[in-house]
Amino acid sequence: MKIHVIGGGLAGCEAAWQVARRGLNCVLHEMRPARPTPAHQTDRLAELVCSNSLKSESESTAPWLLKEELRRLDSLLLAAAMKARVPGGHALTVDRDVFAREVTQAIAGEPCIELRREEVTALSGEDIWIVASGPLTSGALADEIGRLTGSTRLYFYDSISPIVDAETVDTSIAFWASRYGKSTDNSDDYLNCPLDREQYDRFVDELLAAASVTAHIPEDNTCYFEACLPIEEIARRGRDTLRFGPMKPVGLTDPRTGRWPYACVQLRQENLRAESFNLVGFQNHMKFGEQARVLRLIPGLEKAEFLRYGQIHRNTYINAPSLLTPTLQMRSRPAVFFAGQISGVEGYVESIATGLMAGMHAADLARGVEPRPLPRATALGSLCHYISAADPAHYQPANITFDLLPQLDEATRHRLRRDKKARHALVCRQALDALAEYRA
Ligand SMILES: Cc1cc2nc3c(=O)[nH]c(=O)nc-3n(C[C@H](O)[C@H](O)[C@H](O)COP(=O)(O)OP(=O)(O)OC[C@H]3O[C@@H](n4cnc5c(N)ncnc54)[C@H](O)[C@@H]3O)c2cc1C
Repeated sequence: MKIHVIGGGLAGCEAAWQVARRGLNCVLHEMRPARPTPAHQTDRLAELVCSNSLKSESESTAPWLLKEELRRLDSLLLAAAMKARVPGGHALTVDRDVFAREVTQAIAGEPCIELRREEVTALSGEDIWIVASGPLTSGALADEIGRLTGSTRLYFYDSISPIVDAETVDTSIAFWASRYGKSTDNSDDYLNCPLDREQYDRFVDELLAAASVTAHIPEDNTCYFEACLPIEEIARRGRDTLRFGPMKPVGLTDPRTGRWPYACVQLRQENLRAESFNLVGFQNHMKFGEQARVLRLIPGLEKAEFLRYGQIHRNTYINAPSLLTPTLQMRSRPAVFFAGQISGVEGYVESIATGLMAGMHAADLARGVEPRPLPRATALGSLCHYISAADPAHYQPANITFDLLPQLDEATRHRLRRDKKARHALVCRQALDALAEYRA
């Protein structure tokens, strides 16, 4: 069976490279420059469309672990990033031109990869396909994917709400309750942060004054669905509008006062994300530093650590948990793999990671070997576990954080309860051991 990779971006180049490293031929289809996207500026492969940061290189952080696992699996793009590295403090920041040039040259020089500059609009025949066409997938291919997956539409605007580390929420202020006591499983589903009038007014003032990010695609700042308006846009519509929207306090009795607060922010435990909470309905366009400052004005979140910031941007992704296996294959058509942003992950390195795994697994399938999922203990395995097993009804794309990885056993957690660094170091050690065993 011939292997086709759609998209010469981060995921697609890594996938094609992994197929070639295993001695198999593949065709890499890239539509640029004939068909441009709204964000790419060049005809190079693996172009970074926005920031030049591949996130933290500090040892024993979750983004470091993901990169370390990729390095140990001989990732082409991580090797290119190391060659293109420029000073960036604790982060792996790169010169984007050098990075794209390195990848483009490596792919062009690899005889097992045939690069075709053309748009793919259909996944025909019995071949193996890796769909890695990214958040800006062309319209015709998006229609084909819609048909293939049975989705009436893919997600074209993605609103991501911030996630905070559960340990850093002040539960002497925030209280557990469901609106009017109506819970889905007889427990109090939400952790609620109450605001009085003065706190609410200050929050709205600071929110309205906060700096927003500059959009790379102009519609990102204007094209909203009513259901996913950024909180600052809701606030602009009227002083009280937030109190009738995501900060609605009705039915939430604060046990400290016996009354409903003036306004309330609800935190929801994320399915498959242990020890973290999603700020429900708090998607926004503020710069990350501004988000930290403004959201910490919410009582209970004064010392919150943010695992993910809110965003709204043009995106195309499938509802992975209802469609994919942990080996990134479609359950209904196993010769079709998804990788990169379209598979339901978020971020440069996460896209490279799913590309690497899809390439490895597709090569196995072509050789008649059953693809083996990465161990759950690894960052790679945890990412795949999340995208294939999260709740499809509330699915939001994932970037790598420790809350996706398996928890330490109770006794170890208790022993290291005051030492988060040691807990994270241990999770990383277990992940790298599991990866070594998998490779052996
Ligand atoms: C505007 C924008 C800014 C972003 N900024 C960041 C950021 O700063 N940091 C971060 O970590 N992540 C960011 N992301 C998210 C994500 O990490 C990047 O989009 C990343 O490039 C995704 O990698 P990918 O391989 O999935 O897609 P891409 O790198 O976009 O690659 C997909 C490729 O497929 C090609 N293609 C599309 N349709 C077809 C077709 N039908 N046939 C053939 N080729 C096709 C495209 O031309 C493209 O080259 C951003 C996303 C967007 C949209």
